[in-house]
Amino acid sequence: MASRYLDEVHRRVVVFDGAMGTSIQARKLKPADFLDGKEGWNESLVLTRSDVIAGIHESFLAAGCDVLETNTFGGSRLKLGEYGHGTADDVHRINLAATQLARRCADKFGAPDKPRFVAGAVGPTGMLPSTDDPELGKITFDQLADIYAEQARPLIEGGCDLLLIETSQDMLEVKAAIAGFRQCFRQIGRSVPIQAQVTLDVTQRMLLGTDIGAAMTTLEALRVDVIGLNCSTGPAEMRDSVRFLCENSRLPVSVLPNAGIPENRDGHALYPETPADFARHLSEFVAEFGVNIVGGCCGTTPDHLRAVIETLQRITPKKRELTL
Ligand SMILES: [Zn+2]
Repeated sequence: MASRYLDEVHRRVVVFDGAMGTSIQARKLKPADFLDGKEGWNESLVLTRSDVIAGIHESFLAAGCDVLETNTFGGSRLKLGEYGHGTADDVHRINLAATQLARRCADKFGAPDKPRFVAGAVGPTGMLPSTDDPELGKITFDQLADIYAEQARPLIEGGCDLLLIETSQDMLEVKAAIAGFRQCFRQIGRSVPIQAQVTLDVTQRMLLGTDIGAAMTTLEALRVDVIGLNCSTGPAEMRDSVRFLCENSRLPVSVLPNAGIPENRDGHALYPETPADFARHLSEFVAEFGVNIVGGCCGTTPDHLRAVIETLQRITPKKRELTL
């Protein structure tokens, strides 16, 4: 597949943006800023306060980030349905608006020698299809695939450079997401690369107990283009799993940790890792293991990413043999 994004990943270390959720929280918005006054419904802000989302995107572009994630983590019909807007039209409208907004911001900053990319971000639906939980397990593979196909379409129509399934906790859901993405590619007659990121807890297992070796084997069999980790912990806790991926996979590897494990301060999550610490960890992953893509998840600010980009300039990435 011809992809400028993958070309760039093969050429150099590519840097994603930082947190959307905690960046929105830091702006202390009012209920009236959200659609229907539903405070905390971040995905609705692309309709009601696109200036806020554009401001966050541009803060990461100004820091030097190469890739923006669309503000569509909870953009599936199941997640939007929790706010009373789970129709096909809602899914299309919100995901399209979010992608067009990220695209405009990326293109404003993009230059021929420094292209900026848009990742169409897709998160979990909230279901856990692998379990026999009476509520969360009650969905079929085909239903889930349709839900992901529906969300992927406006992300691609809006101009994303890749699809990112992230913060994944159930491998069966990841498999359904990828099947849904391919269903969408067939429907619209074009495709983009797929980047799949799983989330591991402090014991380095996914929520349902899958370890990184099993996750990697499944993702490679599903022929994703990039394999990676994001969220849940800081970089230090991910170290062994990052090394495992780099040593055992020939796919590009992405790592987007939180700014440490959050501490509870007066009912608020505080992410303890400083930009300098965060940057040191990530650049070690690049120099020692050959990680190809870095970025930030919860609690990471433009300062964290700026520090990452500066630190990367002083190291030599370890070369890994990649499958083209
Ligand atoms: Zn996170």
